[in-house]
Amino acid sequence: MARSVAEVLDLIQSEEVAYVDVRFTDPKGKLQHVTLDVDLIDEDFFEEGFMFDGSSIAGWKSIDQSDMKLMPDASSAYLDPFYAEKTLCVHCNVVEPDTGEAYDRDPRGTAVKAEAYLKASGVGDAFYCGPEAEFFIFDDVRYSVTPQKVSFQIDAHAAAWNTDTEYEMGNQAHRAGHKGGYFPVNPIDEAQDMRGEMLSTMKRMGIKVDKHHHEVATCQHELGMVFGGLVEQADNIQKYKYVIHNVAHAYGKSVTFMPKPMKGDNGSGMHVNMSIWKDGRPLFAGDKYADLSQEALWFIGGILKHAKALNALTNPSTNSYKRLIPGFEAPVLRAYSARNRSGCVRIPWTESPKAKRVEARFPDPSANPYLCFAALLMAGLDGIRNKIDPGPASDKDLYDLPPEELAEIPTVCGSLREALEELEKDMDFLLQGDVFTRDQLDSYIRLKWEEVYAFEHTPHPIEYAMYYSC
Ligand code: GLN
Ligand code: MG
Ligand code: MG
Ligand code: MG
Repeated sequence: MARSVAEVLDLIQSEEVAYVDVRFTDPKGKLQHVTLDVDLIDEDFFEEGFMFDGSSIAGWKSIDQSDMKLMPDASSAYLDPFYAEKTLCVHCNVVEPDTGEAYDRDPRGTAVKAEAYLKASGVGDAFYCGPEAEFFIFDDVRYSVTPQKVSFQIDAHAAAWNTDTEYEMGNQAHRAGHKGGYFPVNPIDEAQDMRGEMLSTMKRMGIKVDKHHHEVATCQHELGMVFGGLVEQADNIQKYKYVIHNVAHAYGKSVTFMPKPMKGDNGSGMHVNMSIWKDGRPLFAGDKYADLSQEALWFIGGILKHAKALNALTNPSTNSYKRLIPGFEAPVLRAYSARNRSGCVRIPWTESPKAKRVEARFPDPSANPYLCFAALLMAGLDGIRNKIDPGPASDKDLYDLPPEELAEIPTVCGSLREALEELEKDMDFLLQGDVFTRDQLDSYIRLKWEEVYAFEHTPHPIEYAMYYSC
């Protein structure tokens, strides 16, 4: 439901809107906001933007040059479903106040540049993506304790279902056991109403939705959106997370999009389905492997070649690498296939050339969606430009390969530390057309090293278990 400025101003009138919430996304992917009185809002507001202090955002300007400008994008506007006062929200790009140029560390600006770069390249005129972000719903009470206690509690919860204690816990017939929630009807599926409310709320905000379901892990869920453009879908992921967090909060629950909250159970991915269209035709449909075109195979070649550098943007948390291990439907190997889900790239089965797409399975929902989708597109375009052959498809279950065959296949990164080092070595494909800039990536890498150090310098609960009595 992309609206023009005039339509947004009409909506403000007809809905008697009291406030306008200007929202933008920081480099780590967190949605930020400032609330403006509606009397400040007119046509000029959309043309001239709104000044704010950017120095409080980690990874942006220093205090001495903190003035920045937000440029609202009317097409992203929606009525807030949660505030008591009627409020219209609008997602913004960040620009330099003096020149009006895009601020190069603004993730949404990067996504806008990536879409423009695709058009300028002549390869295609539209990039569609369909992200599938999974998440866990936990009781809020777990989060009222310290993080160390949280992990002990979750461990205890997971362990309970793996041992004989299950037997001692009384009648569990309508409780979801370990992986038992995927996907019998209620009351085993306890979150039906909550997910329904989440999806309807998104629909009322103008997002095209399609389904919701329990996922494989205990307490894990997914809602489905219909595919769309790069910036539109990155905006939608921000709206998706906002709605899911707030509906769960209203139910007294807590949601996490961290990729691996539970040891021994599936983690949360954010698979990204992608296709390029040119002159109204799907560029990825053809007569090669899995009915893909040559361009689609080169696109996959680019994704697999740059996967390790991409990990810094698509899997940007220390926790991401606890998900990327064998056995939990998350990929480890840099391979592609139409059939199995154990490689980095899958080609979902479809009869329709229009629905022909490539699914990157390694991204996770801790990623900043603007940077994640833009980086995937840049890697794929690099593949097309340089005709990168992805090699033969791997149609076997990659988790079950004999060790000799396994050793032949390259892997994704094993840690955020490794991913940051890989991005340092392989960033030229992102810098094409100034879509990403060196300054932006350097500052992003610096921010992420802080997380690596925080993680590596903190004794972990499992270290007490393994080494305390050494
Ligand atoms: N949770 C899995 C992952 O980590 C995906 C499972 C699925 O969607 N079938 O990617
Ligand atoms: Mg899905
Ligand atoms: Mg899923
Ligand atoms: Mg999927």
